[in-house]
Amino acid sequence: MLCVYAAAGGGEDPLVNLVVGERDMPAPPPGFVRIRVRAASLNHHDLWTLRGVGGGAITYPRTLGCDVAGIVDAYGPDTPEMLAPGTAVVCHSVITCGRCDSCLGPDETLCRTFAMLSDGPYEGTLAEACVVPAANCFPLPRHLDLRHAACLPTTFLTAYRMLFTRAACRPGDTVCIQGAGGGVATAAEALALAAGLRVIVVSRSEERRAQALARGAQHAVEPGRAAAAAIIGLTAGRGVDAVIETVGDATWATSLRAVRPGGTVVVAGATTGPNPPADLARVFWRQLTIRGSTMGTRAEFQSLLAFTESTGLVPLVDTVLPLSEAPEAFRRLAAGQVTGKLVLEVDGSA
Ligand SMILES: [Zn+2]
Repeated sequence: MLCVYAAAGGGEDPLVNLVVGERDMPAPPPGFVRIRVRAASLNHHDLWTLRGVGGGAITYPRTLGCDVAGIVDAYGPDTPEMLAPGTAVVCHSVITCGRCDSCLGPDETLCRTFAMLSDGPYEGTLAEACVVPAANCFPLPRHLDLRHAACLPTTFLTAYRMLFTRAACRPGDTVCIQGAGGGVATAAEALALAAGLRVIVVSRSEERRAQALARGAQHAVEPGRAAAAAIIGLTAGRGVDAVIETVGDATWATSLRAVRPGGTVVVAGATTGPNPPADLARVFWRQLTIRGSTMGTRAEFQSLLAFTESTGLVPLVDTVLPLSEAPEAFRRLAAGQVTGKLVLEVDGSA
């Protein structure tokens, strides 16, 4: 079957490791189901795998991709058929042990064997077929086609957990989203607006600021020394209830200044670097909460699917390309020239 895979990890140009070629059709092991892939979306996680710094010990070649929507094909041995073959599904991309205290408790993302599809021993989704745990498959939200549903499992789930679990945002809250246009940032913007939050985006790009305003964000602010003061001014001197942080070094100082006393900064990435000054005096004096966040639970994924259906939210898609044109999609992802999701489609049927 046709696959998009990393032949190796690391090196000067990670895209050199990217191959579109034939690999064997996977057989689903016990507890797993094979999905005929119709659409799969790209994430920065895939670039990390090409760089050789993916999750867990990876052996190459490794099929890339965490996100998938497709058709249930065949179950592994001794695996109950939860959804009938032929059902269109979207898949939660997190795999955990299912047996430890974290897995048996309310938050399996704390499992010590936490992995995403394409991490550790698991092959990814950028292929004509993939295998995933049977319990990770869910019917599509009724209003979404396969290519839009394929955008949900990583960036939207990450943003959903950041906003509604980790920051515990409620309707009417004001949230600052750093790095408008990025994958998680764009998802957070859409989810926040659908939930009735007031949204202030921060972006270097005038074009991206204008696009965010056109999508319904209430305010768009230029980053830099004046950004925090501008944000505080936009909230009547109070500061925002929560900040969605995935940028790191370049924006951290603004995030700590722009959040209200007692507010929350949720961090799920650090694309410009992971070691900004901690500014501890501000943290304790203003009683800030700083919370890390990674992906989301199966229950949160179900909630995300229900939320998109009840609000009619449709993920923003930048471009849809056939699987065979994956190198072009990866070039765009690596260059940061994307607003919304890049989707690869199998045989145009999505
Ligand atoms: Zn576990």
